Amino acid sequence: MAERTVRHTAMEQRILYGNIFFLLQLLAPWLDVSAMLAECPLFYTYGGFDCCYRWATYLQDKSRTKQLQCRLAEAFGVAPVELANAQAKIDTGEWRCEDLAAALDKLLLDGKAAPSSLQYVLQNFSVEAKAKVPMSCTDGRAAYSAPSANPVLEYLEGHAPPVYVARPCHKGPPEHAAMPPRVRDRKAGFQTALPTLAFCCRMCEAEFPNRRAHDEHVDMVHGGSRWYINAFHSFHELHPYVVSPTENRSSVQRFARAQQYGTKEFDNEPYLEAPPQSLQKLLLWETLYKALAVHGNLEEGIQKVTVWMRTFRDAATEHNGARLFPPVKKTETV
Ligand SMILES: [Zn+2]
Repeated sequence: MAERTVRHTAMEQRILYGNIFFLLQLLAPWLDVSAMLAECPLFYTYGGFDCCYRWATYLQDKSRTKQLQCRLAEAFGVAPVELANAQAKIDTGEWRCEDLAAALDKLLLDGKAAPSSLQYVLQNFSVEAKAKVPMSCTDGRAAYSAPSANPVLEYLEGHAPPVYVARPCHKGPPEHAAMPPRVRDRKAGFQTALPTLAFCCRMCEAEFPNRRAHDEHVDMVHGGSRWYINAFHSFHELHPYVVSPTENRSSVQRFARAQQYGTKEFDNEPYLEAPPQSLQKLLLWETLYKALAVHGNLEEGIQKVTVWMRTFRDAATEHNGARLFPPVKKTETV
């Protein structure tokens, strides 16, 4: 695929997943956001596989699972100030939580006819659940008139210029919504020889178990390998590059493994393709539905959704990528 096409596709995906990430954060009073993110392996391509339970355990550093949200916020440019502004709109009733849910329905379902919707769940929240965010789920927004006028979707998609343009981003060749370029924070790597996965991003803290996953991250976050290498060298051209004990350790390990297994490039694990994005989004939608439905009496809705999702679940189980990431429960125990 042409470099330009890769960059443009990556930009569109950063906008889409940035918006999903933004909406999930706003529903945090009723959700474990980390558990929701774990349902969609694509988020680890942005934040680094070392943030998932399995690889964090392998590295004996379970605190990494808690770093995923910070890394995603940087990769998507979803800054605290944008979240605070959105929260203010919810608090004043300008945005209703049903609107947030309806926006997530649209972004995650891709027009599929599901038997229920997140919007329906939010509309049927129990009184106690609504009380978690005063006014937000009530009829406090007087301006809301037509059901089709969703102010959240208008904010995300209908704005001119679009909202992602205002997010912190790099405006150069990687196109809008790419995180501002910087180099990896190596301070901790100089203190001691820390274990790492086989491939570490040099422009952020993300780590990957094989080259292909690393290259996908570079394409999706840093504008492709050519821009990535140029940016890295530009940062380091004015002073010598001092190799850290962590990088020394990693080099020795890779040499030893390559010698032991007779490979030029050692992977922690061979590349396994993740399920298609449409399927990942559906699985995330189902998990969201079930997590939110707990706050209302929606057993019937959960049953319908479970039956409807069965074929999609089977497809995901058959897929190699389903073995890549641990069940949601494990992240909760960290
Ligand atoms: Zn990176």
